[in-house]
Amino acid sequence: MLLKLYQAGQPVLRQTAKPVTKNVLAAADTQALIDHMIETLRDAPGVGLAAPQVAQPLQIVVIEDKARYHKPVSKEVLQAQGRRSVQLKVLVNPRLEIVGDDQALFFEGCLSVDGYVAAVQRATTVKVTALDREGKDISYAATGWQARILQHEIDHLNGSLYIDNMLIKSFMTVKNFVTAWRDAPEVKIRKTFNG
Ligand code: ZN
Repeated sequence: MLLKLYQAGQPVLRQTAKPVTKNVLAAADTQALIDHMIETLRDAPGVGLAAPQVAQPLQIVVIEDKARYHKPVSKEVLQAQGRRSVQLKVLVNPRLEIVGDDQALFFEGCLSVDGYVAAVQRATTVKVTALDREGKDISYAATGWQARILQHEIDHLNGSLYIDNMLIKSFMTVKNFVTAWRDAPEVKIRKTFNG
């Protein structure tokens, strides 16, 4: 079942999401919610979806970055972004730790800010600790684009959207992004919009 994607301006996106107990996680309606979130993410398509975006104030995130989503992006930019395909992951009650000081500035969008993108500075390495959908502990380090996805999605659980942290002057329509900025190197993004 496809779920309605809530858009910026709807208060659920600004609430702090609640932790999910193991009992609630095991419940049939929660497992169904996870299935529907995956279906909605793939339909959009997007690389990450947090439960508040479908009006569920719960600490659940799904991420997936398929190789075919990378086709429109140049090899140089994919490499600079550290973007590699990511298999489907369901993260429940995720905790994020920033590793090191390295940051990168690239454009990102959000299924809840439909039609726009902006450049956001993000850490390039993170460590995430969470439960999977069966309630088992998982913990791993992520770099590059996956680190960006994780920071973006876990921000959703804290009621934060990328627009809170974007380089304000870089905010633009997807149309302008695709026309002129998708393959822009980081240095050009920084030089153009960082003033
Ligand atoms: Zn988002």
